[in-house]
Amino acid sequence: MDWLPYAEVVVELTNRKLDRIFHYTIPGTLKQKVQLGSRVVVPFGNRTVGGVVIGFAEKAEVEVTKEIKAVQENVPPLTSELLKLARWMAEYYICPLSVVLQAILPPISQRTGSKIDQAVRLKPGLRAEEVLQQLKRAPKQAAVIKILADKPVLPVKPLLKKAAASMSNLKALQDKGYIELITLEQQKEQKLQQPYELTPEQGRVLVRIKEALRKGQFAAQLLFGVTGSGKTEVYLQALAINRQLGRQAIVLLPEIALTEQMVGRYRARFGEEVVAWHSDLTPKERRLAWEKISGGHVSIIVGARSAIFAPFSDLGLIILDEEHENSYRQETNPKYHAREVALKRGELNGALVLLGSATPSIESAYRASTGQFELLTLTERFESRPLPQVHVVDLREELRQGNFSIFSRTLQQKIQERLNKREQTILFLNRRGFSSFFVCRDCGHTIGCKSCAISLTYHAAARELKCHYCGYRQEVPQACPECGSRRIRGFGIGTERVEQEVRLLFPEAKVGRLDTDISNKKGYRQEILQAFKQSDLDILVGTQMIAKGLDFPGVTLVGVISADLSLNLPDFRAGERTFQLLTQVAGRAGRGSKPGEVVIQTYWPDHEVVLAAQKHDYQEFYQKEILVRKELCYPPFVHLIRVLISGKDEEKVIQGCQDFAQLVKTKNAPEVVVLGPAPAPIQKLQDLYRWQIILKGDRLEEMRRNLGNCLQQYHQATHLAGRLHWSIDVDPLGMF
Ligand code: ADP
Ligand code: ZN
Ligand code: ZN
Repeated sequence: MDWLPYAEVVVELTNRKLDRIFHYTIPGTLKQKVQLGSRVVVPFGNRTVGGVVIGFAEKAEVEVTKEIKAVQENVPPLTSELLKLARWMAEYYICPLSVVLQAILPPISQRTGSKIDQAVRLKPGLRAEEVLQQLKRAPKQAAVIKILADKPVLPVKPLLKKAAASMSNLKALQDKGYIELITLEQQKEQKLQQPYELTPEQGRVLVRIKEALRKGQFAAQLLFGVTGSGKTEVYLQALAINRQLGRQAIVLLPEIALTEQMVGRYRARFGEEVVAWHSDLTPKERRLAWEKISGGHVSIIVGARSAIFAPFSDLGLIILDEEHENSYRQETNPKYHAREVALKRGELNGALVLLGSATPSIESAYRASTGQFELLTLTERFESRPLPQVHVVDLREELRQGNFSIFSRTLQQKIQERLNKREQTILFLNRRGFSSFFVCRDCGHTIGCKSCAISLTYHAAARELKCHYCGYRQEVPQACPECGSRRIRGFGIGTERVEQEVRLLFPEAKVGRLDTDISNKKGYRQEILQAFKQSDLDILVGTQMIAKGLDFPGVTLVGVISADLSLNLPDFRAGERTFQLLTQVAGRAGRGSKPGEVVIQTYWPDHEVVLAAQKHDYQEFYQKEILVRKELCYPPFVHLIRVLISGKDEEKVIQGCQDFAQLVKTKNAPEVVVLGPAPAPIQKLQDLYRWQIILKGDRLEEMRRNLGNCLQQYHQATHLAGRLHWSIDVDPLGMF
């Protein structure tokens, strides 16, 4: 490459106005070191900031350019593939590139050099003589192979010395697939678990995956398999094939499923080839994980959504388990969905993207129906264990019969049966706390948060009212702050109340509870799950934290205290969410040898979502839901972009939102629908007033471009823009 004198640098500042490239001169001393993707230190105004080199130029935009001060040598440069991915994300999600880069880049370490001890071995299955045949013209590489021929593994340094070879010789051998660089930990002989023999159904699915992997091209497959059908076993064997092909893999799990148990299943099969990645890692552990990956010491990462940015150089397979999960969406900038990023990364790498779920997102199921994704199905649970029988209980009827308890008679009776038989029960309610709001019976006043337009939730154990959005808490008032009446009390139920009622009704039962109030206490979550696993608890009460992924063979009854909470949400995805939640939570029952039962309590027993969940019939749910989406013009038939404007001064927020909406309306094509300006569903949050505009249309690229232009134009035209908070959400999931 001809040497170009200027580096194009994105600086680590997050201001929308600075969302552009700055040119810096490269001093002669750094000529060799500044590469594409290098992390650099540059002067900016009167400060020094970090930045990333994203290109080179012959000319600078300005006459006087400053010099790059230093290059961070202790982090490898960002690969050009990840740089492309970052640019795509910035454009797709209308987010400053610097913000995207900060999400992708590993933290910079203070110390230099890697502490990982490397070792080399001949690739398992290869014979030295055969390899030597291929290396007649590469004497140094051949020397390395000769030395490795009768050694199981050798640390890098002595090997290079003996063979009089260099690191680049090793790299060449690695690229040809003759040797493997491993960490010294890997030397310890590990007893790895053997793959299971697949069921005929699993076998057919794996054949299709294998074909796709062999092609080495981008493809997307949707593995639709009922809960307990053995999807994980399929993933494990797909990973083994990908590894044999010499390529690397990313496995994404939703945050909630990233338990030791789950990661353990991958470790048991692949040992030290696996690195785990989750939000609890310390910065040091993160750095080490990234170093293991970019150094080629591991070939599989198992982690939460940001593991999608793992700096592998030859990615062959990306797996998203439970692809419908909301935790794949990041709700802070950059607001990306790991599924979409995975598809893009698969495209850039010629990799297979394998999405798995028992309840696929409507978007993915739709893409499978149009042929964009190849559909693979597992219809049976392993060993043909039956799916649990689901009873729907009409709560209106309970009231008519004079039962005011939060448990229907059916549910009470079935819990008692389980206690008699010493089997276990899970009780699910998707709201924590004791009661959901506090109301004065005389004047009707509801106690709300001081900073948010939200009512406070009563937590009995702490004797407090809490805001679930901003964390504000206050003591329970003795009297109504409006009228002074003492007849003030809580309504609506939460998990804390369910726990209390269970203890009252079944005093002999051992009861545990799991929700975010509890599991924030460190280690407590594991403790409770462990106790439940060992059958030290009879009943586990919890929020969606217990709905997903957990595998307790002793559970034969699942009770859904109310299916209505999520059905009633003012969101076009309410039906989809409810179906997914009901199916997932029902899937916790009957995983062992004894069949399971589910009781769903609802005021809405003939709702089609409830009926479809009762029959475990995803197809029926999907067919109805997709028609509704089409009729009402919702995704996947259109794209939505939400612009949320917030600020302390309500009038300015309204003014800004109105002006901006006006601008957007004049700039967009007539077929793009602009909804609003209107107050957001939660009008005030953490002392900020919130207004929004929603764009609806099917040509996303054009919508994005127009919106980007409008943002720029509006920010340049008025000072008001800079004093408001802007939040842009492309393909938003929830819109509270
Ligand atoms: P899913 O991920 O679809 O919910 P899992 O992969 O957890 O299902 O499988 C359910 C259970 O069946 C697990 O305990 C798993 O070990 C077991 N299993 C799945 N496939 C096989 C197989 N081919 N041979 C033996 N056990 C299997
Ligand atoms: Zn009152
Ligand atoms: Zn609040």
